[in-house]
Amino acid sequence: MKQWFRRLMYGRNGMDTLANVCLIAGLIVYIVAAILDLRWISLLFFALVIYAYFRCFSKNVYKRRNENAAFVDFFALRKKMFKDRKDWKYIRCGNCKAYLRVPRNKGTLDVTCPKCKSVFRVKG
Ligand SMILES: [Zn+2]
Repeated sequence: MKQWFRRLMYGRNGMDTLANVCLIAGLIVYIVAAILDLRWISLLFFALVIYAYFRCFSKNVYKRRNENAAFVDFFALRKKMFKDRKDWKYIRCGNCKAYLRVPRNKGTLDVTCPKCKSVFRVKG
């Protein structure tokens, strides 16, 4: 049994953070749909579970890992933004859309984007 499962999962993505979040979100959707008696929402539950299993059994590991990294980075940045909200302000570069962190309460600053080197003025 164990060997069979090992052979089945060889070269596949397996469970990652995004798949786990999809399953947990699917479970929450299912419970909410059951409590409120909304049958059509169960389609969302099935979509989330199918997507989670698609990710788990996908053999395109490179693409699934990149999607998972983008997902994890998105929430890591939001967490950092929330943590730094008193002392730092996050802005996006008007040229390349990169996130820049500028100090708050320092007046108007000329900021140079480290990625594309464009300069713009920011009110701190
Ligand atoms: Zn830039």
